[in-house]
Amino acid sequence: MATENQSALDDFREAGALLEGHFLLTSGLHSPKYLQCAQVMQNPVVAERLCAQLARALDVNRIECVVGPAIGGILVAYELARALGVRAIYAERQDGKMTLRRGFTIRPAERILMCEDVVTTGGSLLEVRNLITAAGGRVVAVASLVDRTSGRDPGLGLPLTALLKIDVPAYPAEECPMCRAGQPLVSPGRTGKK
Ligand SMILES: [Zn+2]
Repeated sequence: MATENQSALDDFREAGALLEGHFLLTSGLHSPKYLQCAQVMQNPVVAERLCAQLARALDVNRIECVVGPAIGGILVAYELARALGVRAIYAERQDGKMTLRRGFTIRPAERILMCEDVVTTGGSLLEVRNLITAAGGRVVAVASLVDRTSGRDPGLGLPLTALLKIDVPAYPAEECPMCRAGQPLVSPGRTGKK
C-alpha cells in the first residue's frame, strides 16, 4: 500500500489535509506540499474509514492494545482500536519525557500496535516503543496514516504500515523553485485551509 491508494489520497485532498502549491512551513522552509492530518481526522466517518483500511493492511494478528503518542497518535490509535476491537491508550510528554498517564497501563507481554498520524523521523515512536518495552509490552506492529520517511529507516525494528507515502520536500527560501517561479507563498497553518 502506498501512493496508489487513491481513495485515501482523495480523502486527504478533499479534507484539505494535503494541499499542493507553495507553502511556508512552521520550520520557515518552503514546500510544494502541505500535510495536516488533523484536517482529515476531524471527520469521524472519514477517520473511521481510513483507520479501518489501515487496520486491514496490517499483517499481524492478536493485537491486544493500540498505543500512539499524543497528540497526533490519539485519534489514530482510537480508530485503529475500534477497527480491531481492542482498547487504545496514548503516551504523552511530561517534563519532556514520553510517559503513560491517566492510569493507562500495559500488561506484561501484551501485544501492542504502535501508531502515529505521520511518521517523519520516527522519533516520538522510538520513545513510545521504549516506554512499551520498559512496561513489559511487546510491539508487534507499527502503523501510520502517512509515511513521510522518504525511504529513511526510522529504526523501529519493525516495518511501518502506512496508508499513504507522501514526500514533503522543503527548501530554504533562497533555494525554493516556487519562489523562483514567482508563485505566491501561502501560510496554511495561520490562514486555515487555503
Ligand atoms: Zn518559496
